[in-house]
Order: sequence, then structure tokens, then C-alpha cells
Amino acid sequence: MQLAWYRKYRPQTFTEVVGQEHIKTTLRNQIKAGSFGHAYLFSGPKGTGKTSMARILARSVNCLVSVGGEPCGKCAMCQAFDNGQMLDLIEIDAASNTGVENIRDLIDKIALAPSLAKFKVYVIDEAHQLSKSAFNALLKTLEEPPAHAIFILATTEPHKFPATIISRCQRFDFRHLNMADIVVWLKTVANKETIQLDEAAAELIAGESGGSMRDALSLLEQASSMSPNITKDQLVSWLGFVDWNSVYQLMEMVLAGKSQEAVSRVNQIYQDGYDLNRLAVAWIALVRQILAVKLGNQSMLGISADQIQQLDKFTDRLSLDQIAWLMEELMLTAKEIKTAVVMQLPLELFIVQAVRRIASATVKDQNNDILPPVEPTSVSDNSTKTPIETTAEDWPEVVRMVRQTHPTLSAVLGRTQAVMVGNKLRLVCSSSFHKDTIEQAANQQVIRGALERLGKTCTMECIVDAKSANPGSVAVEEVLQVFGQV
Ligand SMILES: [Zn+2]
Repeated sequence: MQLAWYRKYRPQTFTEVVGQEHIKTTLRNQIKAGSFGHAYLFSGPKGTGKTSMARILARSVNCLVSVGGEPCGKCAMCQAFDNGQMLDLIEIDAASNTGVENIRDLIDKIALAPSLAKFKVYVIDEAHQLSKSAFNALLKTLEEPPAHAIFILATTEPHKFPATIISRCQRFDFRHLNMADIVVWLKTVANKETIQLDEAAAELIAGESGGSMRDALSLLEQASSMSPNITKDQLVSWLGFVDWNSVYQLMEMVLAGKSQEAVSRVNQIYQDGYDLNRLAVAWIALVRQILAVKLGNQSMLGISADQIQQLDKFTDRLSLDQIAWLMEELMLTAKEIKTAVVMQLPLELFIVQAVRRIASATVKDQNNDILPPVEPTSVSDNSTKTPIETTAEDWPEVVRMVRQTHPTLSAVLGRTQAVMVGNKLRLVCSSSFHKDTIEQAANQQVIRGALERLGKTCTMECIVDAKSANPGSVAVEEVLQVFGQV
């Protein structure tokens, strides 16, 4: 059977490991100095090289002629590793049932000397899954490990470890790989497999992998099974990839108030065969990066200096509130796409609302469209007897709540301005079509329901003022035409 590329191209030396420079350097130095530890904790996201690094460490401490802290790859020990005959490398997957039993078994036999090599190396994958009793047994061993034993605990969830275990280990935190490193390695593997992979395609795969080499290589492998010549356009049509440039451009359009342009871009992307749910997920990832940079947490997501530079143009223009709003709305949008009758609609509505909320806040001086002076052309009173408790500030929340069940009505409400006039909540519509929609009895009930859930009650009136049209209103009309009546 053919090996998955992630296994086939597992690095054999520290130097071959992509990224994680801080860890490679420390481990090489320890081995050179003969001062390595007996218990290590490798923590970090999946596909960042924890298991590979553990195996290289096992080879390196047992290599007969290790040079510069690296395994030589030629001696009897290295050969035994290569042929899978190294009995002194014991790998356990704690996530499996047998893993827990194996732990007991290995601890029973720990005192036995290695059969071939100098050191017995125990690599425990997903070690956070060990049971309490397994941890206890392990703890005793870690307190007084035999000189011939080395433990490497690998985990994606270090917070699940008892502090007593962590304090006995040398801890190394693996980071997400940066895009440039992944691109280089993808091209290397493509070369070895004699497949053509252009730069743009490699970047697309790297972006899609979320910093996991395992995911990147399996995507490359998947793509290569379709053609030995991989281009960006093919990836898009085969795997429904999202082009990161498009996501950046959409974000720029929203910030520039170009809702019509952004809506037609979404439609173009859809017609080109992209998966819109992936587009929404990628957009969420972008907003998350913007948030991280805004908070100074970029290291948490492994964002490179290049990316920070690209993200700065967004972080400078967005407040924390606006970023949080974008994130929340996009998560809702991604959920809605899965069940939408018209796939593009949830993203279109998102764009329209985002422009209204964000771009209009920054360009209000240029086009005086925020709460314009109101000259009612017609007024209708849908008063209730309950006293006033609502303010216009609650309106965006009402729009958001209505959106969960009535997206089209919500789009209309999103284009409607709410102002308090005396003791009434006045809804200013840009067209009589919007006014009629809002005034339909069923829709009135939905709006009041949302207000009530917020603990608010009030008297509402609905008027038409054509001057209240916003930059995004043309797009909304288009959306409504596509979607039909409310
Ligand atoms: Zn060797």
C-alpha cells in the first residue's frame, strides 16, 4: 500500500523539520552536549511536527555517530529506525483503548534495559487522553525515571494535564507553521513526486491548510490524484477552494462602502464554482486575524510579519466593537448558507448590513446619510398601549434577531433608520415597498416579538423618506428581487 505523503515525507532530521526553529535548536544543543532530559511535553496544534520531532529525538539520542545533534541516517541504530525494527521506540496512542492498557504494561516493564539501543524512548500521542490512574502511574515513573528511559508526551490540549506531570517535563510549545514555510515544503514534495505545482496553487493550499503541514500535504496529494499539473484555477474547481485574495478584496470593498461591488463579487465567486460556505469560513478566519492583531495577540495565531502588514490596513479602520460585530454576523451567515434557498443571499445580506454599519460610520461626512432630517410623506400609527422603553440604539439588535428567522424582512429593517421622535420609535423607510413590508401584520408581529425578547415594548410608526437611501440600498433591491416577497 502506498504511504500517505505526510508519512512518506516525514522529516528524518531536525534540519528537515519545517519551522519550529526554537525547538530544533534547543534539542540539537541538548543532544550535542549530552544533556537531554528524561521527560518532554510537546504541545501544539495538529500537523505542526510534534510526532516527527519526537521520532527524530529518539533517533538522535540513539545514533552511534550523531553529528551536531542530528541522527546520521547510516549507522545500525538509524537503519533499525528506518526499517521499523527499533524495538526501543515505543509509540502509544492514548486516544485508543489499547493506549491506556499499554501505559500500564510499559510502566511494569520500564525497569528492563533497552533491547538494542542505548535509550528506550516512549512517545505517547494525544497524552491528555490518559485516564487518571494512568497519569498517576506515569507520575511515579516520571519522579524517578530509569536512566535508560526517555518519555515524550505529545498533545494538542496541554491544559488537560495535571500540573504535577507538567512540572516534571521539559515543555516545548509547537506553533502553527507560517505560510511561506509550507509553500516551500509543498514545492519540494511536488518536485519529488514530479508534479507541476505553480506558486499561486501552492499558496492557495498553504492558506487552506490553516498552518498544518499534515493538512497541506493531504490536500496536495488529493489534488495530484486528479492531474499531475496543478494550477490555482483547477484547485478552485476541484476542491472548492477559496481564493484568499478574494476574501481580502471583499473586506476592502465593505470598508470602502462598495456594497454593490461586493455583492456582485460574491455572485461571481459563486458562478465560478467556489463553495460559499468556505468563503464565509475564510472570511471568519480573516476577521479573527484582524482581531488578534488588534489585541496584539498575533503570535497566538502564528501570523507572520508579512500578514500583519496586510492586516494593518483593516485593523486601523475597525474598532473592537465593529470587529466583534463582523465576527458574530459572519458566524451566523456561515450557518445560514447551509440552509439558504438562494446560496448567495446570506452573504449579500451580510455585506449590505456590514457596509451600513461600518463603512457608513467612517464616510458619514462625505455622504450625509446617517439619520437625515426627516420630512414625513406619510405616517401610519401602529401604536400599542404599553409605555415607551425602547431607544433607537436597540434597533441593530432587533434587526439581528429578526434575521435568524426572517432574513428578507431583516434586510428591509437593516435599511430602515430608527429614530426616537417624542415617545415613538419612528422607522424611516427609503421606499413605500419597505414601508408596506414592515407594516404587514405578520411582520409587525415578528418585530414586536424581537422587541419583547429584548424586554422592550414601544409605540412604532413607519414613514417613507426617499432621502434616507443608503449606499447599499441598490444592492438590497437586487437581493429582494432575487428572493421575491417577504
Ligand atoms: Zn546514526
